[in-house]
Amino acid sequence: MEGRGLAASVLDEVAAGVRRRLEEGRSQPYLAAVLVGDDPGSATYVRMKRRDCERVGIASSDHHLPAQSHTQDVIQLVSELSRDQRVSGVLVQLPLPRQVDTAQVLEAVDPAKDVDGLHPFNAGRLLLGEPGLEPSTPAGIIGLLDHYAVAIGGRRATVVGRSNIVGKPVAVMLLRRDATVTVCHSKTADLAAACREADILVVAIGRPHAIRAAMVKPGAAVVDVGVNWIAGEQVGDVHPEVAEKAAFLSPSPGGVGPLTRAMLVRNTLLAEERRRP
Ligand code: NDP
Repeated sequence: MEGRGLAASVLDEVAAGVRRRLEEGRSQPYLAAVLVGDDPGSATYVRMKRRDCERVGIASSDHHLPAQSHTQDVIQLVSELSRDQRVSGVLVQLPLPRQVDTAQVLEAVDPAKDVDGLHPFNAGRLLLGEPGLEPSTPAGIIGLLDHYAVAIGGRRATVVGRSNIVGKPVAVMLLRRDATVTVCHSKTADLAAACREADILVVAIGRPHAIRAAMVKPGAAVVDVGVNWIAGEQVGDVHPEVAEKAAFLSPSPGGVGPLTRAMLVRNTLLAEERRRP
């Protein structure tokens, strides 16, 4: 399940939507990204997001705070951006430095501008099955499964990982699509057995090549969300040998990652469409 082609078509759709808005004299969507500290990985992600925005005609700005910033410094910046009438979406690049309270910062984002779908308001609406802004990575995972016509309803799905940004929301989305969902984590007693039951296996743990072929049901659809670095090379959470057992496997890199970025850009347009129809 290659993600780059699908991501390109999502970006093309967004570009067409932005063009239409501008031709009709409506406002240009605008993404403001907040980066705290000097993590080179986070800086790269923010740069790539800016490039995606340029490609689709969305305006963007980056706001950089020093690594030693306090929670209140970040909240102040996020609140200012949330109040700024030009801004459609506020993205806080995670992870934040240890001394910054991530939950408090995410709550400071205006829910209507929460393009990463991490504010409790949007997380709650997702849980309740109400429309809101959905987190990008889980939306990308569902988009990938749909694009490759992997049936979800009535099937068994196992999600490995229970983070707020990937595991929990994707489990809720799969449930909403009528899958029977098992969520696993570091305390799960028999991870291999839970994985082997899955017609759809989503892995987001950050452990290189942790999922081996013996843990996968023949013919399963496997989504590898993991991004790990070994000797400068990016590898996923799923061992390459799984390709021989699975009917579908999303590569890492080149699977969920590009779609995550495309979904963020799509959410920015969506947020602006709702704010200023
Ligand atoms: P977190 O570190 O926040 O969460 C990891 C989860 O995995 C936790 O729930 C943890 O369990 C669980 N876990 C860790 N080790 C094991 C294990 N051996 N067996 C079972 N469960 C385990 O990670 P994220 O969700 O933020 O990210 C997961 C991976 O996905 C990372 O590699 C990250 O880089 C990647 N990622 C990729 C994105 C993309 O766009 N492609 C976007 C976001 C993340 P417990 O809760 O018990 O600690």
